Amino acid sequence: MDCLFCKIIAGDIPSAKVYEDENVYAFKDINPQAPVHVLVVPKTHICCADKIDAQNSVYVAKIFEAIPEIAAQMGLTNGYRIINNCGEDGCQTVKHLHFHILGGKKLPENMG
Ligand code: AMP
Ligand code: ZN
Repeated sequence: MDCLFCKIIAGDIPSAKVYEDENVYAFKDINPQAPVHVLVVPKTHICCADKIDAQNSVYVAKIFEAIPEIAAQMGLTNGYRIINNCGEDGCQTVKHLHFHILGGKKLPENMG
């Protein structure tokens, strides 16, 4: 499958890994929007939040179980923001479900 994040998970494209378990992979965003900017992805291909269903939502749960550990590892003791962009209007550019973790500074209040 021609998917950038599937290739990253497979190790075919290099990434700055920060966390990995059986279901979840996390790596530094190549174009960080904050001092800490990590992408957390399921190891299985799900295109976007709009395709989460009863069969695959366990991967979303696994991602959110991993996030506190990732945040602690990245030193985000004062909070952080989790963002998912979905589809055209959400400006999703990579069509493999991912959650952005942003932190390391006080983030802007504006959510768009
Ligand atoms: P989105 O716009 O929500 O689809 O986010 C895609 C994110 O992937 C952007 O923040 C990009 O900077 C990031 N990105 C694209 N290619 C890579 C890569 N090879 N390694 C790490 N992050 C990437
Ligand atoms: Zn994929």
